[in-house]
Amino acid sequence: MIRSARVLHYAQEVFEGMKAYRQADGGIALFRPEANAARFNKSARRLAMPELPEDIFVESVRQLVTADREWFPTVEGGSLYLRPFMFASEVFLGVRPSKQYKFLVIASPAGNYFKSGAPAVSIWVSRDYTRAAPGGTGAAKCGGNYAASLVPQAEAIERGHDQVIFLDAVERKWVEELGGMNLYFVFDDGTLLTPSLTGTILPGITRDSLLTLARAEGLTVREDRYSIDQWREDAQSGRLVECFACGTAAVVTPVGRVSGHDLDFTVGSGGPGQLTQKLKDRLVAIQRGSTPDPHNWVTKLD
Ligand code: PLP
Repeated sequence: MIRSARVLHYAQEVFEGMKAYRQADGGIALFRPEANAARFNKSARRLAMPELPEDIFVESVRQLVTADREWFPTVEGGSLYLRPFMFASEVFLGVRPSKQYKFLVIASPAGNYFKSGAPAVSIWVSRDYTRAAPGGTGAAKCGGNYAASLVPQAEAIERGHDQVIFLDAVERKWVEELGGMNLYFVFDDGTLLTPSLTGTILPGITRDSLLTLARAEGLTVREDRYSIDQWREDAQSGRLVECFACGTAAVVTPVGRVSGHDLDFTVGSGGPGQLTQKLKDRLVAIQRGSTPDPHNWVTKLD
């Protein structure tokens, strides 16, 4: 019976989030689907679930996109959001890994993630909640992580912000990520920094792509820890000139105001900075097939 399915009791579930993009030539393409397949399997291993051969993952996504081509939004920047997921379907109540799983892919037309139309998102620093602890499941894309983020995200909205940002669970000082996006910081010397993948952060494919694109532009990017106090100090001194969030859904979105129980500051002009816009344009041009794809990231579908 479905009500005894293990996923409903022990949350053995992993998923991916990716998009199919309309190309400049009218075709459709996936962006780094192998990276999603690899992350899916990494998440599955952490949740004691079986891995799925990567070619099956990519082929199922490809087939769904082909079948759902008519669902592509016609609006500028529209894409087809794809959600491959796998869950424990065995009917049994004891606590152990399931012996049966279901893998499915669903799709939905997608427009812009942030509806406010504001030039930058404002974020709330959660003091009372953390997202992931060392040794936990923070680096896996599993439903439980998102369940845990809903209350702090609701708190952010209640306080008039778009997103919540999480600090590390041990010292409560190191900046980790937003509920569904990674972060980048741009300094006045033209260098960038993104929080290092400590095991409590989801290794974003957008984050990774931007790392490559920025370095290919000759920019220096550090992966390091960055504290909330340093963030405030750098924003106030002007050393930090831009900050942006990145992910499949949000692409590249400038971060403007940052508030918490005992802090409130704005990064740079509070709107999109030059480097943020440049990196976004580079990424989007590759995803949309309007520029050469030097890293072989794009998989065109017929
Ligand atoms: N961090 C979290 C918690 C996420 O849910 C996501 C989105 O999937 C990201 C970061 C960004 O990852 P990606 O760039 O692969 O979409």
